[in-house]
Amino acid sequence: MPEFRQNLASKEWVILAPERRRRPSDNAKNVEIKEPLPSHRDDCPFCPGNENLTDSPVYTLPDNSHWQVRVVPNKFAALQSNLSTVRSYVGRFLTAEGFGIAEVIIESPRHNTHPALMSTGEVAHILRAYRQRQTELSKNDKINIVTIFRNHGRKAGTSLDHPHSQIIATPIVPPHERYPMEQAVLHYDKNGTCVYCDLLAEELMQKDRIIIESPGFAAFCPFAARSPFECRIYPKRHMASFVNIQDDEIVDLADVLRTLLAKLHIHLDNPDYNYIIRSAPVGDENTHHLHWYMVIIPKISTPAGFEIGSGIYINTVAPEISAQLLRDTMTSV
Ligand SMILES: [Zn+2]
Ligand SMILES: [Zn+2]
Repeated sequence: MPEFRQNLASKEWVILAPERRRRPSDNAKNVEIKEPLPSHRDDCPFCPGNENLTDSPVYTLPDNSHWQVRVVPNKFAALQSNLSTVRSYVGRFLTAEGFGIAEVIIESPRHNTHPALMSTGEVAHILRAYRQRQTELSKNDKINIVTIFRNHGRKAGTSLDHPHSQIIATPIVPPHERYPMEQAVLHYDKNGTCVYCDLLAEELMQKDRIIIESPGFAAFCPFAARSPFECRIYPKRHMASFVNIQDDEIVDLADVLRTLLAKLHIHLDNPDYNYIIRSAPVGDENTHHLHWYMVIIPKISTPAGFEIGSGIYINTVAPEISAQLLRDTMTSV
């Protein structure tokens, strides 16, 4: 029986329709074969020895000559940092110069690795780079929101195999991020609580969608998951922005994230995926009603006409099933 479910925080609806998995398909065998990658490529701009192919780093860890993580300006960014935020009209239509700051986090000197295969220490290095860059970019008066994300694989939108994630800082908070924020304000006004803390408390109480629980974090498939194996990682402590994460929490999160990605890697055979860190806008880092979290979306289904038209996603795997399969997936590290 299909079922509508509502996301407590964003108020979005999804449809759970496991029966649709049985519909006929003529491309069931169209599985992408991923070729093994070399550990180094002479023509890769992110491999050691080719540092001159990128702009000067804005951050390196631990130092320039033996870097493990390196952050550089994105040469091919959609937005540019040398423009203004002045808005103007073309007739009735609003426009502004394409100001924004885009950076690439090169996650490892090794060409053929990614976080699912890394140690907790290596993933913690990446998270430290995220925190430092988000903190630094938030000091820019023209920046309103900082988005950190990772695209893994071609279907997730990446053009380079070398392990990397990205940061884009913009002067605009888009409507699809603003709307849940407004809902969170309404929830806080009505109940006096953070809706995300409430959502996490409910998930921890119901338990059947929890995948990993650590001292400071919980990884779960949300009640109203939009797609199969869609996951969230929430900090248990109320924190509106990722910039507030403490050193010991970074190591805790690195372990949870690495384990979750390793489970997805094993169970779904190295799926393409996106992850995103959703954080409060600049200036709202200590607000009571917003709460940062990570979204991890394996690219195993494509939004079709109904999803694009209605904004209502059809999920063919119940999140209880996705969570159980991932809980039961053993990781070797
Ligand atoms: Zn490389
Ligand atoms: Zn909270």
